Amino acid sequence: MRVRIARDLCVGAGQCERSAPAVFAQDDSGLSLALTEEPAAEQWPSVHEAADLCPVGAVLVAAGRLAPFDERETA
Ligand code: SF4
Repeated sequence: MRVRIARDLCVGAGQCERSAPAVFAQDDSGLSLALTEEPAAEQWPSVHEAADLCPVGAVLVAAGRLAPFDERETA
């Protein structure tokens, strides 16, 4: 699994960090970033939960290698 945050979508709701604090954190601007792009298998359920609960769909999850992104800023 790979994960990134679409920072142009993130509104800083913080749900991802609450769901998976080992994988996501909010920076000084309040926007989220992924602390790792390849979370350990035991983190996958909480990462999926974060993706499901993010109100704007900013938690981007891919099963394998991430597809190429468009011009979106991710972290
Ligand atoms: S839950 Fe979504 S909107 Fe909220 S901080 Fe995480 S990525 Fe941003």
